[in-house]
Amino acid sequence: MRPTRSANGSPEYMQPSPRLIAHDIYRRSSYGSRHPLSIPRVSAAFDLIAAMGWLRAGQYIESPIATFEQICRFHDPDYVAALMEAERSQRASPEIRQRYNIGITNKPIFPEMFRRPATACGGTLKAASLLLEDGGIVHHLAGGTHHGHRDRAGGFCFLNDAVLGIFYLLDHGLTRVLYVDLDAHHGDGVQCAFGNDPRVLMISIHEENRWPFTGRLEDRAGGSARNLPVPRELNDSEFEVLIDAAVLPLADRFAPEATVIQCGADALADDPMSGGMLSNSAIWRAVQQLSETAPRLLVLGGGGYNPWSTARCWAGLWAILNRLDAREIPTATARAVLRDLTWSRSQGRSPPEHWFATIADPERPGKVRSRIHELVAVTLTP
Ligand SMILES: [Zn+2]
Repeated sequence: MRPTRSANGSPEYMQPSPRLIAHDIYRRSSYGSRHPLSIPRVSAAFDLIAAMGWLRAGQYIESPIATFEQICRFHDPDYVAALMEAERSQRASPEIRQRYNIGITNKPIFPEMFRRPATACGGTLKAASLLLEDGGIVHHLAGGTHHGHRDRAGGFCFLNDAVLGIFYLLDHGLTRVLYVDLDAHHGDGVQCAFGNDPRVLMISIHEENRWPFTGRLEDRAGGSARNLPVPRELNDSEFEVLIDAAVLPLADRFAPEATVIQCGADALADDPMSGGMLSNSAIWRAVQQLSETAPRLLVLGGGGYNPWSTARCWAGLWAILNRLDAREIPTATARAVLRDLTWSRSQGRSPPEHWFATIADPERPGKVRSRIHELVAVTLTP
């Protein structure tokens, strides 16, 4: 592994302490009571971090909202205008719904349907600018909306903050940005944006045969992507092999000036939206290792549909980024934060004790299937 370097070549101890970006809009806005994103995620993770005493003065930064012009660095102006108009009028014609994929299925019309994703974009742009100024680590809890497309919504994502953040880094002179996507779903919107761009290397680990059904092993997006579609029930040992044997060597070879990690929590065993069997410790270890690949690290959120496992994963991740002990026994206040969470799914009616008692999951090692070794071998083939 390459040793940690600071952005301006100064010693590591000169780097600022990690910064955490969030906003209260995620506390009050929801996609609607029956939507998978109706659960508290950003606010729950933030409250847990604060309750554990893991946030020092000066580390928290409130997310700005991105401007129309900033968003149009990637998105089509007519799409952004349609999104703003749908928020204003709280309706969309059948033609608009069809053309932009909004107001249908899991992309409902709701009161903050523009301001909420635009705030996620603003947070990631703020993070990118902080990283350009003085390097270090920024954790943006609400980022990672990786399914947003240039001219339409995708998945639960109206806009794509990750793409805007990477463009910002490139537009300000960086020439090698590594994007690692740990979400259970393939980051199709990001891959569409940077396919054939040699300045970006996109590595995605996602579950095979799962929506959006892109990101096949042989799909390299003109050389800019490496896709590792994994079988169901991926365990910690298998994930560790993928990170150690494929992701880190690729990262090392690319020598990025900035690393962006989409850290969706939906490949965790307790998440309802994938067949993944990971513990949060596996994710933390991967991010810790990836933090050493570049002098600038941007950690984003992403999927995560169990409020307890998502909040615990992201809170613990913040602890790891600050070199704190994520295995600390939760404080009384932290336990109260966890106890106050609710989830309308049946699993939420009698949540198991370990969702409250610890931040770290029990580790989930297992047999490393031959398919995992195959994925590594093919991924490393030039
Ligand atoms: Zn996902």
